[in-house]
Amino acid sequence: MALSGIQIFKMMPKKNCGECGVPTCLAFAMNLAAGKAELAQCPYVSEEAKEKLASASAPPIRTVQIGTGDSAVKTGGETVLFRHEKTFNNPTALGCLIATSEDDASVDAKLKAFTQLKYERVGLTLKPDLIAIRDGGDPARFATVAKKASDAGAALILMSDNLDAFKAALAQVGKNKPLLYAATDGNLDAISALSKEFDCPIAVKADKVGDVARLSAALIEKGHKDIVLDSGTRNLAELLRDNVMIRRLALENLYRPLGFPTIVFPCDMTDNPVDEAIVAGTFISKYGGIAILSDLRGELLFPLLLQRLNIFTDPQRPMTTEQGIYPIGNPGDQSPILITSNFSLTYFIVSGEIESSRVPSWLLVLNTDGLSVLTAWAAGKFVGDLIGPFVRKSGIEEKTKTRKLVIPGAAAIISGDLEEELPGWEIAIGPREGAHIPAYLRQNFA
Ligand code: SF4
Repeated sequence: MALSGIQIFKMMPKKNCGECGVPTCLAFAMNLAAGKAELAQCPYVSEEAKEKLASASAPPIRTVQIGTGDSAVKTGGETVLFRHEKTFNNPTALGCLIATSEDDASVDAKLKAFTQLKYERVGLTLKPDLIAIRDGGDPARFATVAKKASDAGAALILMSDNLDAFKAALAQVGKNKPLLYAATDGNLDAISALSKEFDCPIAVKADKVGDVARLSAALIEKGHKDIVLDSGTRNLAELLRDNVMIRRLALENLYRPLGFPTIVFPCDMTDNPVDEAIVAGTFISKYGGIAILSDLRGELLFPLLLQRLNIFTDPQRPMTTEQGIYPIGNPGDQSPILITSNFSLTYFIVSGEIESSRVPSWLLVLNTDGLSVLTAWAAGKFVGDLIGPFVRKSGIEEKTKTRKLVIPGAAAIISGDLEEELPGWEIAIGPREGAHIPAYLRQNFA
């Protein structure tokens, strides 16, 4: 059970030293209970209290890691039902299914897509995370394909109901901690033993949520901590119901057997690629910890990655870019100077348009607390008496002889104030839309 602030306070050192960032131990305990602080922020908590508090403050859905090193994927760790309550933590891991019955050309094409489909967006690299290998009945081939996928840098899910196949594959890739899929009523003890031998996470599969909970409880009893749940149904409405039920029981009832991430298989739910993407999108929104697709096609993967980015971005913390000077295209001392806000999306759109103009430029980014230009202006954060001192202190005057600052068209109203703040500078009003920046720069500066 989660502890109340008062229960936590009783275990605190009661020094009221303020080193944790709040003035009293009581305030810190309240923040801890509300999930707004980390226990590690207090250097004086006793080991005994740490142990008790760590288990009490563990997320109701355990974070499970699949894979190791750079290819490791984390799933679960969620603490809320709705992202506006706080944030979702670990994005739905997107994977591709490779059946060992597929020929080598198909296997290689999927692995190539896995390594090549990467997209830069707001400073992040969006890409698929996992390969699921489904055993077609030949343990040696199962092991070979698993090794190939592991060499391609993928975290792995090994899917089989044959212990010999698991053993053959684990001999090749066991050190990479693949997810073993799946423990069922028929093989629970054997899969549990393999999972312990190789220290791998383990998936449980049954035909209904109650049976999944029973199997999961049996694994917990055996000492397993890293479990992934598959409620078994491949019907969209039933799977949605199961995922919601699992999430609610884990969060609202703190029901430990269901306090683990789920895995869903859009690849097994339809033959139509577009429908498959829609199914995957449903479970990115509604509690899928891992979603396995039948193939990786850029036109379907990219929208899913974007949807995932949107759902798993902290809604309370705007994505920001560092305040500063950004040279684009190797600008010189006669190059144009533009300014924008530090909302990441604004920065990446504006910098991308400047780059595509092929006019080398300086881009100044003002800290507006992650607000876009118009919102920042309305909030008094993109105004003359902030921009003027920023420009003067930024060091841009040492880098260039240009004394002409291009401001966004949406903030044209600040030009008068800015001229007063920046004597000796000319203020030019740029386009309102980012898409018009290339033409503007070419007409005025090329
Ligand atoms: Fe209390 Fe620890 Fe915070 Fe000091 S750092 S006020 S001891 S909770």
